[in-house]
Amino acid sequence: MRRFIDLHTHSTASDGELAPAELIRCADEANLAAVALTDHDTLGGLAEASAAAGDYPDLKFVGGLEISAKFPRGHLHILAYGIDETAEPLLRITERFRAARNERNPRIIAKLQALGVDITMDDVVAAARREDDEPDPIISRVHMARALREAGHVRTNQEAFDRYLGSTGAAFVDKEVIEPDEAIAAIRECDALAVLAHPVQLKCDNHAQLERVVRELVRLGIQGIEAYHSDHTPELTRAYIDLAKKHDLGITGGSDFHGAPKPDVRLGHPRVPVSAVGEAFAERLFG
Ligand code: AMP
Ligand code: MN
Ligand code: MN
Ligand code: MN
Repeated sequence: MRRFIDLHTHSTASDGELAPAELIRCADEANLAAVALTDHDTLGGLAEASAAAGDYPDLKFVGGLEISAKFPRGHLHILAYGIDETAEPLLRITERFRAARNERNPRIIAKLQALGVDITMDDVVAAARREDDEPDPIISRVHMARALREAGHVRTNQEAFDRYLGSTGAAFVDKEVIEPDEAIAAIRECDALAVLAHPVQLKCDNHAQLERVVRELVRLGIQGIEAYHSDHTPELTRAYIDLAKKHDLGITGGSDFHGAPKPDVRLGHPRVPVSAVGEAFAERLFG
């Protein structure tokens, strides 16, 4: 019996390194009981991943999505679970994000060029499409970092973000985000599960503040907390499990695997026991 799951991963449809089918193959090879694909802002990898999962009878596949929502401090990311590529309310949101990126990306390129960094949108698109025939991947700053590295303007991804692309970088342009209530409502409209991703990244000052945020998200319809995540210490994970139980929320977890863009994060790590999810939530996640 397989005992561990990974409910947070990215593919080439957004800023991950592996094509969706390849990611599924690796999840099976890692002996996972279940894997969810949760690309940023796109459902574009779900059809391929779900079809590939048909070849692995011991691996359950969960269609997902990660949405960046508006929040006054750190990052508020909301995960959707139990969807496929036809989820209309979420497609409306992802299309809006794609349009916003199409407007934002050239502005970042223009800033880079004004700084004397000779890089074009074509270079970035090439960096995003390299590994696979993904027809229409999300173009993110990760691809810009790769293009900058390959053209020799920086030596590492980190340098690309520090000097140019990060929030204090010289070519930074902010990203369009959605109000949390709208994101959660769209997820619930699809009859999917809405889960607060990696609470540590909210950057709350203390536990009381985090609990206020969680209460508000519960009011908006959030159903679970991602207690296990590669950014969480075991102590944080325990605290988030307690918080979830206190507010009658489901518990999930995942690695946030990206491949090379996050080289320290391994698929299936940290270990998330399938038993941690709880029966009712597991029933809704895995059917
Ligand atoms: P974007 O969606 O285009 O704003 O790009 C966001 C992605 O860039 C995130 O999902 C991370 O993978 C990556 N990223 C953001 N900030 C940094 C940073 N400071 N260092 C490395 N990667 C980063
Ligand atoms: Mn990412
Ligand atoms: Mn995230
Ligand atoms: Mn993620």
